[in-house]
Amino acid sequence: MKASVYYAKGDIRYEEVALPDIGEGDLLIKMKACGLCGTDIHKAQHQTVTGPVVLGHEVAGEVVKAGHNVQGFKPGDRIITAIHVPCFTCHYCDRGHFTLCDQFKKTHIEPGGFAEYIRLPELHVKHLTHRISEKLSWEKASLIEPVGCCLHGLKSANIHPQDTVLVMGGGTIGLLSAQLARLKGAAKVIVTDISPFKLASSKKLGVDHAINSAQEDVVARVAEITQGLGVDVVVIAAGISSLLTEAVSLLRRGGRVIVFSPFDHNSEIKVDASRFFKDEISIVGTYSLSPYEMKEALDIIENNKINVDDIITHRWPLSGLAEAIGFAANPANEVIKVIMTDGD
Ligand SMILES: [Zn+2]
Ligand SMILES: [Zn+2]
Repeated sequence: MKASVYYAKGDIRYEEVALPDIGEGDLLIKMKACGLCGTDIHKAQHQTVTGPVVLGHEVAGEVVKAGHNVQGFKPGDRIITAIHVPCFTCHYCDRGHFTLCDQFKKTHIEPGGFAEYIRLPELHVKHLTHRISEKLSWEKASLIEPVGCCLHGLKSANIHPQDTVLVMGGGTIGLLSAQLARLKGAAKVIVTDISPFKLASSKKLGVDHAINSAQEDVVARVAEITQGLGVDVVVIAAGISSLLTEAVSLLRRGGRVIVFSPFDHNSEIKVDASRFFKDEISIVGTYSLSPYEMKEALDIIENNKINVDDIITHRWPLSGLAEAIGFAANPANEVIKVIMTDGD
């Protein structure tokens, strides 16, 4: 079978790899769509992983083979899955921090999402794999995993009706989070970005205010929109650590900042620390998703509760991964979500 294998920055090869063998509890699926995630781009551009490795984890596909002990799935089933499975019993899992579980990052699909065929190990089959309806397109189905990640982050945001939510960054995570915040009851949703294309897209998706942070004074605009009170929630969905300083300054009393971005290692950020005691603000990090968010994400996508059609801007066949990453990583391009599809 073929896969797009990452070796090093600028070296991704579409080549022949071994078809994975499956065990009694495993599934073999044919990849139909796999979203290109910001973290895939980050790994490839910043070489945070050592090749050769097959990236990709936002997978939708068709079951082609099921191990003898598999229950609930058979060849021909259309499914979605995710990449890491917690143990459900350790210190972290006990406390609901499933993504911090030691087992979490040790579990993988084989060889990765950007491959023609993928083995889903038994744990993935049991806890992360769900059938999708005939009506749902493959590319939309591949958005279920990132929607789940956004739901995971928004849990800590604890959104109340009438809240104002500001999302920094109009990429896939930002535009999904903005819509999910609305779904959770936010009365006003604001998106900031420096890309006119992403700001126009966010308006199309129904956000109330799209602010160009390169041209406008975000602090002044937010003060104007909120009558000087500030926003209840800021979601940081852009990988610039200095945004945290501004995020804290934009919070209303009792406000929450959700950091959904891989900031640089050891980056030190200044925030107005008096606000923790005086205003009971909080800053919470978020990473990946737990099996519990998959079901909610599936329901949201299957029932069209948010618009993902206007988020998917580009498609590439599996063979074009190198080109797709180069294109998506260039801020000059008008791109939000890239989906890799089956075929060359
Ligand atoms: Zn992802
Ligand atoms: Zn655990």
